[in-house]
Amino acid sequence: MKKQTKAIRTQTGKTKYREHSTPLFLTSSFTFESAEQGKALFEETEEGNIYSRFSNPSVQEFVDKVCMLEGLEDGVATATGMAAVFASMAALLKSGDHILACRALFGSAHQIIAQILPKWGITHTYLDATATEEEWEAAVQPNTRMIYLETPSNPGLDLVDLAMIGRIAKKHSIIFNVDNCFASPALQTPADFGADLVLHSATKFMDGQGRVLGGVVVGKKEYIKDLRFFCRQTGPSMSPFNAWVLSKSLETLSLRMEKHSSNALALAAALDKHPDVKAVKYPFLESHPQHTLAKQQMKAGGAVVTIELEGGFERVAAFMDALEIASLSSNLGDTRTIVTNPNTTTHAKLKPEEKAALGITEGLIRISVGLEDVEDLIEDFTNAVEVSVKSDILE
Ligand SMILES: *Cc1c(COP(=O)(O)O)cnc(C)c1O
Repeated sequence: MKKQTKAIRTQTGKTKYREHSTPLFLTSSFTFESAEQGKALFEETEEGNIYSRFSNPSVQEFVDKVCMLEGLEDGVATATGMAAVFASMAALLKSGDHILACRALFGSAHQIIAQILPKWGITHTYLDATATEEEWEAAVQPNTRMIYLETPSNPGLDLVDLAMIGRIAKKHSIIFNVDNCFASPALQTPADFGADLVLHSATKFMDGQGRVLGGVVVGKKEYIKDLRFFCRQTGPSMSPFNAWVLSKSLETLSLRMEKHSSNALALAAALDKHPDVKAVKYPFLESHPQHTLAKQQMKAGGAVVTIELEGGFERVAAFMDALEIASLSSNLGDTRTIVTNPNTTTHAKLKPEEKAALGITEGLIRISVGLEDVEDLIEDFTNAVEVSVKSDILE
């Protein structure tokens, strides 16, 4: 069976009620049929559910689907994307280890690497997304245990060459860990390029409708064994309810990502032509500096487009406040188009030099293109650009 069929047909076994939609196991614990069974389950001579911090059928169904979509063996689901990021590091790294990471990271991932892990003696080196193979090679230290990156990055939409990093990780036996949130497995499968672990904020495109928080890490069995131990003991488990919502959402993930991508490409192309938009960045626009790489490792460009407007925050505010359809929110990955000014919201806490390194300017706008009719979106954005030019800010 092909992936899309499996995404729909992978399901917890039917109960005696013969339900069609997958059942929701909203239970904190499971009963033992006998004292003997309880003993066997705890001794692990029998496999089965004990307590939903450890395992739950609804959560397992979600994990099984993500493993299938990413082409990786095993996984654990977590309460949020950040719990997935932290668990993937805390479970596999020890004091004295070093992480090599791409500088363009989700804000909280940067805080974990730069502020939290150093408390336990785990150090890091950052490289630019566009660093060469020689530069990555040169940054590998004898104690480098993990390479961590996001591609495309947030909000810069820079790409990292997954095949290149896969070669380096393999050569030096380093764990290759990818946050695949922006592309989703519908558009990019990092395991094909040698990633050992792939993680997601399921809050974004996996849910895709802005309802629940969730995270997931999938990867090679040997690593997931340590992650499972870490998560069972420390408790960042996913709620069965959220898992049920997310598992249903995965049935439509590839359809949604195709439409997000075609809407995003059409909107990016329209804004690219507009004389009052200073710059547009989108991986599948030919003007993207890594367009060739994008075509090599992604099936389509994804939902996120960035544009740059001249004129500082006042111009940005005039533009954002003139939008009639798009929502102003710091989230992304929704059926509804969302607009964010990273400089004053998601990335406001970064130092000026950190912002500069990530291409975060005052006039940068991140658009998470939704599933509305694209003609309406083009009209809404074009109109807002024009309103913001007519306001006397630029004079
Ligand atoms: C949102 C996001 C996260 C964090 O996920 P939460 O579910 O909010 O904890 C991590 N990485 C990327 C790329 C994200 O967009």
